[in-house]
Amino acid sequence: MREICEKYDVIIVGAGVAGLNVALNLPRDKRVLLLAKESLKHSDSYLAQGGMCVMRGEADYAAFFEDTMRAGHRENSPEAVDCMLRHSEEIAADLVRSGVDFTRDRDGNFAYTREGGHSRARILYHEDCTGKAISLGLLKQVKRLKNVTVRPYTVLLDILCDEEKNECCGAVLSDAKTGELKAVYADYVVLATGGIGGLFRFSTNFRSLTGDGVAIALKHGVAVENVDYIQIHPTTLYTKKRGRRFLISESVRGEGAVLIDAKGERFTDELQPRDIVTAAIRKKMSAEGSKFVRLDLRTIAPDRVRLHFPQIVKRCAEEGYDVFNEPIPVVPGQHYFMGGIKSDTHGRTSMARLFAVGETCSNGVHGKNRLASNSLLESLVFAKRAALKIGAEYTPVDQKTVERAKHGFNEKEYEDRKTLFAAYRKAVLGEVERAQKAREKTKDKGEKQ
Ligand SMILES: Cc1cc2nc3c(=O)[nH]c(=O)nc-3n(C[C@H](O)[C@H](O)[C@H](O)COP(=O)(O)OP(=O)(O)OC[C@H]3O[C@@H](n4cnc5c(N)ncnc54)[C@H](O)[C@@H]3O)c2cc1C
Repeated sequence: MREICEKYDVIIVGAGVAGLNVALNLPRDKRVLLLAKESLKHSDSYLAQGGMCVMRGEADYAAFFEDTMRAGHRENSPEAVDCMLRHSEEIAADLVRSGVDFTRDRDGNFAYTREGGHSRARILYHEDCTGKAISLGLLKQVKRLKNVTVRPYTVLLDILCDEEKNECCGAVLSDAKTGELKAVYADYVVLATGGIGGLFRFSTNFRSLTGDGVAIALKHGVAVENVDYIQIHPTTLYTKKRGRRFLISESVRGEGAVLIDAKGERFTDELQPRDIVTAAIRKKMSAEGSKFVRLDLRTIAPDRVRLHFPQIVKRCAEEGYDVFNEPIPVVPGQHYFMGGIKSDTHGRTSMARLFAVGETCSNGVHGKNRLASNSLLESLVFAKRAALKIGAEYTPVDQKTVERAKHGFNEKEYEDRKTLFAAYRKAVLGEVERAQKAREKTKDKGEKQ
């Protein structure tokens, strides 16, 4: 295998909304490499349906803060939540400037929708494909930047670092099509590698999102936290087929759809936080011995369903369900990762020059459970802050660090990619199990005292 060396100022791993917003907010005089494991459309950002929360003026601060904390079981970092809320209107304005066409009312004002856990409607949306609208808007802007090289089908295999100094200085990359290995050096590396749904049999996430950033962090002793905080979405479309589960957005319930059991009776308040609705569905399925419960959209005006949820109507029809005439079968499925690489509100990790943003990081915003539609906002806010931080504090990496990393680089380690990724998978799932056990132990101790 031939090792090829390149040098950039900043490497951003991931082309979801987090990675894209880092690229857009870095100084234009920095040479930036932006990567995606597969196609640029294969990100969870692209799949987001419901929308993006935004604080509706100062009058909404206390309620939005409380809704986020309540959903997170008050394990959230108040500082991080405050930061997200205070930057939300700025992010919405950035997106509009990038050409994102949020749905508006007849007077031309933003139309807001509501989802579980929210005490009022504060979610901006574009039909039921908000993530696609935002991703395409940002990608269009990024592609215009002369300082950014966008490279899809490029896989991060590892970071390059000086272990002794605990300092990052680049990335080991592989061309997904040719298998060519590259050591690319950089002054800063930003991990925006998304969630871990690809590690689970049933998940709404792309199969390729396997927590690679987290695995690499674990390998190098970069701090991670709460990796057992994994969100299960209450309503994915039930199917016997394998592969990614199709999400039935929470805003469907926000607009009035109801959950019913086998007798056609409502059994829970659909607008509670996700973990509570999931628990109610599981309890019902277990009592009935059923594989799913049903979601009835006939409680929403048909025109509203057609206008707001065209993709959901289409997908249900493909699976043989007419949402206008029958309830659809739904079941909970893995959806979101609250834990991850520990980062502060500027995306800094425990390793110098290594940043983490978006779903792969844990900055404390979500606590134990994410409030619906807070993740696009969180990804965008903290990605921008990370980029501004890098720009403000920019210094080139010490050549000695690079030399030591070069010395430690052994390309043989990356020859067998299958074994490498199997080890990464095992490391992340092992850490999830370890964290779960540690938490149970602490809980037991607390109960005994
Ligand atoms: C079906 C669905 C619906 C959702 N709906 C909403 C919603 O309505 N509102 C909301 O706020 N949130 C929603 N979410 C969550 C939200 O979309 C994500 O949390 C958020 O978009 C994450 O953004 P990200 O940039 O961190 O990661 P992603 O958008 O997932 O991007 C990850 C990127 O990392 C790259 N990558 C991963 N590993 C490697 C590697 N080894 N090498 C190179 N590149 C790599 C991938 O190729 C990809 O480009 C939804 C999620 C799903 C799955």
